[in-house]
Amino acid sequence: MKSEKRQSNCGATFVKSGDTFRTHFRKIGTSDAICYNNFMECYVCPHRCGADRENGLWGSCGVGITPIVARAHLHLWEEPVISGTKGSGTVFFSGCNLHCVYCQNFDISNKNFGKEISVEHLREIYLNLIKQGAHNINLVTPTHFTEAILQSLSEPLPVPVIWNTSGFETLDTLRRLEGKIQIYLPDLKYADNLAAIKYSNAYDYFRIATNAIKEMYRQTGNYVLDSNGLMQKGVIIRHLLLPGRLEDTKKIIDWIADNFQPGQIMFSLMHQYVPCGRAAEYPELNRTVTQEEYELAELYLMESPVEDGFVQEGDAASPDFIPKWDLTGI
Ligand code: SF4
Repeated sequence: MKSEKRQSNCGATFVKSGDTFRTHFRKIGTSDAICYNNFMECYVCPHRCGADRENGLWGSCGVGITPIVARAHLHLWEEPVISGTKGSGTVFFSGCNLHCVYCQNFDISNKNFGKEISVEHLREIYLNLIKQGAHNINLVTPTHFTEAILQSLSEPLPVPVIWNTSGFETLDTLRRLEGKIQIYLPDLKYADNLAAIKYSNAYDYFRIATNAIKEMYRQTGNYVLDSNGLMQKGVIIRHLLLPGRLEDTKKIIDWIADNFQPGQIMFSLMHQYVPCGRAAEYPELNRTVTQEEYELAELYLMESPVEDGFVQEGDAASPDFIPKWDLTGI
């Protein structure tokens, strides 16, 4: 069968596998980002592509519904409350519902390197990581595989499960995760919606991501650490400082200060940006963050009411910290 691909105006790629392309319309305006489609099938994330992923009609995430995993290992470089001493049982899913031009995991998020596995095999991977001593199971970029992950978690695990996400989530999908996920680790990438469109192909990102974070907090409540300082439940909001975008970072910190009290959530200001993926096509992003930029962001954070969380050392901005995509643990 001859197939053909088209990119829609909200980023969804539709593959023609029969006689017709499925129709696809996006509402224009800033108040909503709903995608309308006569043949909606996948609504898992805010792109609402309506793609029939089971039958080869892919959406913006670029993958079908069978999970694809690139690596699973004990990760020691997450926040200390996540990595602990033995490591976080990290499972890296391939494909992504965002398309950040600077993505540090470009080979798996955009090129879809990885191996298709069954739900049963996915659960075996969790159990194997737990046997190795994992303090938790850390699902990285999981959103587009929500259905399979829910099946894999039909029986509870003996350690907390982490939803490690871009923050671009629907409330419907998050509500389905309630009780299965103990820790949410969302990015809050941008306050500036135009930057979110330009760099991540995400419409209305700030409203969507902040609503998602409120829902995550509603589910988990205040964060809880055990006697070893390991997180058992809660939310850690991550923000990666981008080159030249300090003002956006300040708005993110302001939003957190305005919406959460000390003791409710944690905040992680990340300093590990290195230009990857297609960053060379965006000269303003094609450099690391300067020490001065990071110190100014850190100073702003320290002077804000946000009290709980982490900052990163400057040596975190190294490609050496990007995992090797070699199917370890799959
Ligand atoms: S999960 Fe993929 S196909 Fe489904 S709405 Fe999101 S980007 Fe589109």
